[in-house]
Amino acid sequence: MASDSSTAASIATSGGIDPVTGLDAADLGVPAKGLREPTLLSQDERLRGRPKLCSDCGLCDSQFKTLMASSCTFVRQHIPDIEQRLHGRTRRAGDELCFGVFRSMHAARMQQPQPGAQWSGLVTSLGAKLLETGQVEGVITAASAPGTRFAPRPMLARTPDAVRASAGNKPCLSPNLALLDQVREAGIRRLAFIGTGCQVQILRAAEPQLRAELGLERLDVIGIPCSDNVTYPDLQFFLHQVSRSPDTIVHYEFMQDYSLWMRHDDGEIERVNFIDFPMDKLDGVFPSACLSCFDYANSLADITIGYMGARLGWQWLLVRTERGQALFDLIKPQLEFRELDSAGDRRRGMPRYIHMLAEPPGKPPKLIRKLIAFLQRHRGPRGLEFARAVIEMKLLRNLHYLRTHFPRFEARVVHPAVYQALAPYAQDYADSFGRPLDPKAATSVSDSKG
Ligand SMILES: Cc1cc2nc3c(=O)[nH]c(=O)nc-3n(C[C@H](O)[C@H](O)[C@H](O)COP(=O)(O)OP(=O)(O)OC[C@H]3O[C@@H](n4cnc5c(N)ncnc54)[C@H](O)[C@@H]3O)c2cc1C
Ligand code: SF4
Ligand code: SF4
Repeated sequence: MASDSSTAASIATSGGIDPVTGLDAADLGVPAKGLREPTLLSQDERLRGRPKLCSDCGLCDSQFKTLMASSCTFVRQHIPDIEQRLHGRTRRAGDELCFGVFRSMHAARMQQPQPGAQWSGLVTSLGAKLLETGQVEGVITAASAPGTRFAPRPMLARTPDAVRASAGNKPCLSPNLALLDQVREAGIRRLAFIGTGCQVQILRAAEPQLRAELGLERLDVIGIPCSDNVTYPDLQFFLHQVSRSPDTIVHYEFMQDYSLWMRHDDGEIERVNFIDFPMDKLDGVFPSACLSCFDYANSLADITIGYMGARLGWQWLLVRTERGQALFDLIKPQLEFRELDSAGDRRRGMPRYIHMLAEPPGKPPKLIRKLIAFLQRHRGPRGLEFARAVIEMKLLRNLHYLRTHFPRFEARVVHPAVYQALAPYAQDYADSFGRPLDPKAATSVSDSKG
């Protein structure tokens, strides 16, 4: 395989001329910043002129930019209101606090895995099926930018093959909502959208206006869980820090066994334990928006399709809405299932994690790291408990980040279920940080003192 980073670098330095097609990014009908492929740009270049928190969801590149103030989740989150609209209720106590409202959860995978897919290809198979059966006229998905494997290029797919060709993660910020302009130009009334949690939150917040302005009769939302996304140059930096051969990686995933698996073009799989990541070198790699993100599980989608609540090799599905049920029924005949299960106890390790957030320790010696990785793999949370643990840890980490860097945003950006989900650790949080976890608790204490 050609070196992904060298080809991408050549596009980046060639002013946006794609070496594969010879076309300028602007000729390819994609949202462009200047003449360059937008998803190849650095954080600074992409987010210039944007609010402090922006995940480049694409809305502000479209004619619907005027909806930013009322729809952007980093201006104000609307999760409880949208849940009321979608489900007639907000989250119940228990798993919904972390996972969002759902009707059913499954561990499943395609009976015939799709080549090139991230896992078994459930997401793109479902998108393709919607076009095949004529239920939608277009699917917004993320293909690879020409000449790269991992840089996304949002695409309005009109054929099942085009959706299938977009399989596989492009683990970088992708301005998918910019394609709403193409939806309007093409006169599409029945649309499916595949995207990350921030994109879906913003799409849902803008949905009433979009339905009216685009004349949308149907909108199917297929969500993927998402955390710690990056720009393409930062992704390459990350891969150079963790891999012994970053230029030959063709697929990678943060696995449920607490390690990163990187498959190289010769088929070899390189594994690096999470505990061995050089965190000291990764400062500044993750955009502020992704460190201030509180919807890991993509809770406002009709159906969420990920992997982290299922055992290794299986995918995790959350069916949320009536539409989500119809999507699940559509793809179900092509799936095989296994039971969802849960092992370990995340609550035992969480007080220590909170303490480490408040007072970051140095990196332990190699032998201790080996032992920790072993214990995580064999005694740590597994199955659904792994998903709960990872989501709770990211909620805590992101709350800490927001309070440290953007404290005035907390009241607008953090939804109430975050405090409810983390309530079991309120005392540990107060002990470690010297302040209450839930700001309302602080108010009620001072109210009662007053
Ligand atoms: C940055 C990122 C982080 C993720 N983190 C987790 C996680 O922590 N836990 C978890 O369970 N799942 C996570 N996922 C989702 C997971 O890796 C798989 O994408 C999902 O399980 C679907 O697999 P599949 O084989 O069904 O998808 P495929 O059939 O291979 O299709 C993948 C779909 O994802 C879309 N896509 C790829 N990259 C992007 C992008 N950058 N932005 C928007 N859409 C994109 C493609 O357009 C395609 O439609 C993450 C995905 C991304 C992009
Ligand atoms: S996240 Fe989207 S809506 Fe919000 S500022 Fe960025 S591009 Fe605009
Ligand atoms: S981590 Fe959150 S903000 Fe960043 S791309 Fe994913 S869903 Fe969006």
